[in-house]
Amino acid sequence: MTTPLIRIKGLETHYPLGQRLFGPAPVLRALAGIDLDIPAGSFFGLVGESGSGKTTLGRAILKAAPITSGSVAYDDGQSAFDIGTMDARQERTYRSRAQLIFQDPYAALSPRMTVRDIIAEPLEVMGLTSSRAETDDRVREIAKKCRLNLEHLRRFPHAFSGGQRQRISIARALVSGPKFVVADESVAALDVSIQADILNLLKALQNDLSLTLLFISHDLSVVAHSCDTVAVMYLGRLVEVAPSRTLFARPRHPYTRALLSAIPTLDPDAPPRMQRLTGEIPSPADPPPGCRFHTRCPFAQARCRQEVPQLAPTQDGGQVACHFWKDLPDA
Ligand code: SF4
Repeated sequence: MTTPLIRIKGLETHYPLGQRLFGPAPVLRALAGIDLDIPAGSFFGLVGESGSGKTTLGRAILKAAPITSGSVAYDDGQSAFDIGTMDARQERTYRSRAQLIFQDPYAALSPRMTVRDIIAEPLEVMGLTSSRAETDDRVREIAKKCRLNLEHLRRFPHAFSGGQRQRISIARALVSGPKFVVADESVAALDVSIQADILNLLKALQNDLSLTLLFISHDLSVVAHSCDTVAVMYLGRLVEVAPSRTLFARPRHPYTRALLSAIPTLDPDAPPRMQRLTGEIPSPADPPPGCRFHTRCPFAQARCRQEVPQLAPTQDGGQVACHFWKDLPDA
């Protein structure tokens, strides 16, 4: 089994929701007890609806969201960090090892900086190069890997299309030589044809630079062909984790099935959809008791309203959090 680069145990992230005169202040439990290993060298998908906590999880791993309790550990064989207890010096080092590719390539790049300066900024802020010539060499090297034309380094972001801007964002994220990258909805703002181009680029960079990628998306069809493993989140909890092929061929959790059912198909002979999601995702400030999915689950029973299902191993290498997954009809 591959060694985990990231190991998460019992992770909780809470945000206070105002104050009360009497009694404890209400909190929003954005993450409610996450246990997850992300293997080194994997292209790991994290999927769920808006409000599921997937972005908070990505940010907690990068120490950009609070770790209220539990632990997040990083170990690449050369450096190891306990993310929740790092001191300032360790945090600086960790920033060069773990990076974020932003969602919106239009908002992420300063319009007043040239492409060269945008890509070079992390090197200068982290003090990773000792001369302008060294910085320029590193910028050119990563720009080429990200399939950017070197002549474009002198231009400003407004001169580029969405796909080119996202390649600039990727180059900026990779210039410090990270081992771990969170790509948060990094293709959501792009046309479908450009999405495939960026996904192929990320896959090539993952192999070329031995990266571990956490690819966050609300869209299962986007992760279908890229990710080795997929984790599905619902309302602050993981409900299913499985190798990609297994998850798409044999989804175990009713929520995963519903997400798969929502993927459009152009095949007129395709069988009718198994399951459609009805209603909105409940508020994480007031989640349902027991299984958090029970208010929308067509298979819910009395036990589901009282007892929280824990992730348990399946016989095909995955994990699922559902009391009745063995009894559900085939998807
Ligand atoms: Fe549905 Fe119950 Fe399984 Fe939750 S535990 S997914 S409510 S069957």
